[in-house]
Amino acid sequence: MLIDSHAHLDSPRYDEDREEMLRRAADAGIGAVLTIGIGEGPAEMQNALEICRRFNGKPGMPKLYASAGIYPHNAPEADEAALAKLDGLLAQPEVIACGEIGLDYYHEGAPHPVQKEGLIAQLLIAAGRKRPILIHCRPKDGATDAWDDLFEILEEHWTGTGLRGVMHCFGGGWEQARRSLDLGFLISFAGNVTYPKAQPLRDVAERVPLDCILVETDAPWLAPNALRGKRNEPAYVTQTAQTISELHGRSVEEIAAATTRNFAGLFNLPLGMGN
Ligand SMILES: [Zn+2]
Repeated sequence: MLIDSHAHLDSPRYDEDREEMLRRAADAGIGAVLTIGIGEGPAEMQNALEICRRFNGKPGMPKLYASAGIYPHNAPEADEAALAKLDGLLAQPEVIACGEIGLDYYHEGAPHPVQKEGLIAQLLIAAGRKRPILIHCRPKDGATDAWDDLFEILEEHWTGTGLRGVMHCFGGGWEQARRSLDLGFLISFAGNVTYPKAQPLRDVAERVPLDCILVETDAPWLAPNALRGKRNEPAYVTQTAQTISELHGRSVEEIAAATTRNFAGLFNLPLGMGN
């Protein structure tokens, strides 16, 4: 069984066929999906949890888990009410992670100090609820600015909690991977690791120990190379697992077993966690 550690199942792009899409995932051997609760902003933070509750227990579906969080560019909306809502969501048993949160200096949007403030506020809430965090970190092209600020914040506000997290859709270099591993984080690779031009990222993925790796789709975005330009969906996480298996010289089954074990360990879930 494979786990898609990061998908946006609340995307309106699934409104026409969400149930069929989830069945395709189960048919492809996907046993669980972590659906990300950021919506288009805090007003939609609960949508992922609602999707979990709608589909969990139905036969022929992957087991669904949810996260909740305020995306870096929505940080200006992280007011007291939004943070209280986040805290309430993290108290729900299905909501196993806080995210995706972090810093995005690549796209124009929320000013950097506002992003940092929003991140720190959410770290405190996640720590209070003992929920691991899902980090989105994207520096400007050719820079490490967002990573440098991120590590500084994590070292000051997170490492002391003893909790861990995931570097989602990892796109850094080995230095950033090594620092993430030092913090006890798992590194999650998405479909972009399959792109022909992504050799530097594959070089990093090859060096990350198997017991620290997750695979994800970031669906509906970032379809793997063979399906590039199409809407992505959890069934396609198999392609990322295939690439990791080639890089590590292990079978896809071994990659599936390791990434499932890593996911279950991080979130304290039973290993046979499929529906
Ligand atoms: Zn995402």
